[in-house]
Amino acid sequence: MEILSKLYEGKAKEIFTTDDADQVVIRFKDAATAFDGKKKGTIQKKGIMNLKISALFFQLLEKEGIQTHYLATLNDRDMLARKLSIVPVEVVVRNTAAGSLAKRLGLEEGTSMSLPIVEFYYKDDDLGDPMINHYHIRARKMADDDTVKEMEENALAVNEILTRFLKERKIQLVDFKLEFGLYHGKVLLGDEISPDTCRFWDMESKKKMDKDRFRRDLGQVEEVYEEVLSRMEGSNK
Ligand code: UDP
Repeated sequence: MEILSKLYEGKAKEIFTTDDADQVVIRFKDAATAFDGKKKGTIQKKGIMNLKISALFFQLLEKEGIQTHYLATLNDRDMLARKLSIVPVEVVVRNTAAGSLAKRLGLEEGTSMSLPIVEFYYKDDDLGDPMINHYHIRARKMADDDTVKEMEENALAVNEILTRFLKERKIQLVDFKLEFGLYHGKVLLGDEISPDTCRFWDMESKKKMDKDRFRRDLGQVEEVYEEVLSRMEGSNK
């Protein structure tokens, strides 16, 4: 496999084409942003940790029957993945109120939801990723109905698998964001699953172990990313 050229550079990742038209290399960077890019910074070794964490999650999900873009980890920062045509809809699943849900519904952070909540957001930086529903997706032809149904069902299945896995490691899965894409007509899970895209709380102390430490200037950012990884690898179970 040979890397050819840079296809895209996002806030936290770069994507490269390869000599196989169906495969890309995703490079994980240390750059961190929050609040629609208004807050910028660096989390040392974040790229290395997020690649490892994502790879472990994707491997777990594949084993449980969820199809993902993950193919292999090439080195510290590079993931080999199937090249998806990304659906411009972010899927958020929530088990506990936090962040924008707590604000929107006037709930105290930490309020547990009686059922998982699924939300859709239109992936558009200029618009600040507005929340949308099935009607917007249909009217703006962001994805067809079957694709949306599959994304929703997969997101709920991912929630069950990750919640169970993390619970054994004393981590509460508060909420997370997924992205999906099409690959030769199939709907695959893409992007990353990491403390950048999930809220993880220590089950007992409720310590935040995710990007909220960066967003809210809570300190010990690198340390908690490292701790999530080590709990996942089993060395701190
Ligand atoms: N999230 C994300 N990317 C986004 C927006 C949200 O990965 O562009 C994740 C976020 O880390 C959290 C979940 O989705 O785990 C729900 O985020 P929320 O809507 O509460 O947003 P925020 O508090 O970041 O405004």
